[in-house]
Amino acid sequence: MKQPPRNISKSRFCVGLQCLRRLWWEVHEPDAPELQVDPRQQAIYDRGHRVGELARTQFLGGTLVDFEPWEVRERLEATQAALRDGTNVVFEASFAAGGVFAALDALEKRRRGWGLVEVKATLDVKEQHLPDIAVQLYAARAAGLDVRRAEHMHLNRECAFPHLDALFVREEVTAAAEALLPAIPRQVRQMREALDGKLPQIEPGEQCDTPYDCPFARRCQPELPEHHVSTLYQARRPKLAAWLEAGIEVLHDLPDDTPLSPAQTRQVRAVKAGRLVVEDGLSAALRAIEHPAAFLDFETINPPVPVWNGCHPYEAIPVQMSCHVVGGRGRVEHHAHLPDEPGDPRAALAEAVVEACEGARTVVAYNAGFEGRCLEHLAVAVPRLARPLRSIRGRLVDLLPIVRDHVYHPDFGGGFGLKAVLPSLVPGLGYDDLDVADGDTASTLLEGLLLAPEKLKPPERTVLRKQLLAYCERDTRALVELTQRLRAVAESA
Ligand code: SF4
Repeated sequence: MKQPPRNISKSRFCVGLQCLRRLWWEVHEPDAPELQVDPRQQAIYDRGHRVGELARTQFLGGTLVDFEPWEVRERLEATQAALRDGTNVVFEASFAAGGVFAALDALEKRRRGWGLVEVKATLDVKEQHLPDIAVQLYAARAAGLDVRRAEHMHLNRECAFPHLDALFVREEVTAAAEALLPAIPRQVRQMREALDGKLPQIEPGEQCDTPYDCPFARRCQPELPEHHVSTLYQARRPKLAAWLEAGIEVLHDLPDDTPLSPAQTRQVRAVKAGRLVVEDGLSAALRAIEHPAAFLDFETINPPVPVWNGCHPYEAIPVQMSCHVVGGRGRVEHHAHLPDEPGDPRAALAEAVVEACEGARTVVAYNAGFEGRCLEHLAVAVPRLARPLRSIRGRLVDLLPIVRDHVYHPDFGGGFGLKAVLPSLVPGLGYDDLDVADGDTASTLLEGLLLAPEKLKPPERTVLRKQLLAYCERDTRALVELTQRLRAVAESA
């Protein structure tokens, strides 16, 4: 077994706080398949790095300790040299002391002592950031540095492009970080002992997804039987725990008089009967969809650093759409828009949506609140089209509650997302044949395509565009076929 490094890095310290078993695997199996970084995670890391680099520009001057993560000795020496040189700000100042290695995003000289600044690509201070900051404070102080202040620097949700001078805000968290200091020596000792021993035996629990999802969940958590009680729609943890305690493991075992919500009751009925359950009101609910009907779907990006007028950090910005229009005699037309030019795509997108939905009596979406917000965003960004865009929003009909309140198939698995309901209601129409098969991936790829096109070669861009167009088209075709299927089911019911 490879000997782990003696000092625990601050990121591993945070992992160890979540679960010693997870820490053990991360240290002893650094090449584990669960730890391989996929393109989506890489995109998240890249965002964090970009935000970190931008944050450095907010300081007056500064010396960067610029070495690779594994060049620990060089980092420590360069930090000491920068401190000796009388630098006012040191970026990535590194300390190894008290059993911990920590690199600080920024270390700032103050009138008295030093202040550390932790940069996060978030919109506020989160509870889980505090141990991260505390362990930096601990390491720097243990190394003999007089650090008197700790700050959290994050993105400012009020900031709007082009006024990026207000992109960051700094919040003092000294007291909250100091409150965590007394426990750190014991926590470091526990982690050290765990790492020096055999794999810790820890039962799965809340720590498996709090504060972060553990990548090793599959190793620890047993495969659950089909229709396990945890698949009950909107099931609450205390209720689940009580049922499991009472030996109720699958939905079939739930007594008939168990108090449940209407959707949960329908789910249990469907599971116990082993077939699709359809409520009487489905036909009436579907009457809200009048022809010609437009079936609309947007894809969005949410860059941490806004790049177009009026946009805020992480605001969802619609950039792509697909729309199937079904006429009175069942004639179907398809409209799509994906920008091909650099620059703000919203005006062209707004025009494409208005044109596609022109004449539609109903505009159908799945989880239509999202499409409503996209339309409102476009109305604000493109005021000359605000009226028709808001008119489209006024004609939105949400298919999701129609499904949730009237239909359940045992294969829904406790969810009502389009991808959960489509395979069982419209067999043969899914996303498995597509290269881009979910909204998060589409958003990540769109952000790369639109904001960093220079990183893609022209043939790669062409392929990516095709994949994104195919994904968005599938979403609205799915809505058309799902609606047809619901009508058929309602008639036969
Ligand atoms: S799945 Fe849970 S118990 Fe297992 S290593 Fe992860 S956090 Fe620990």
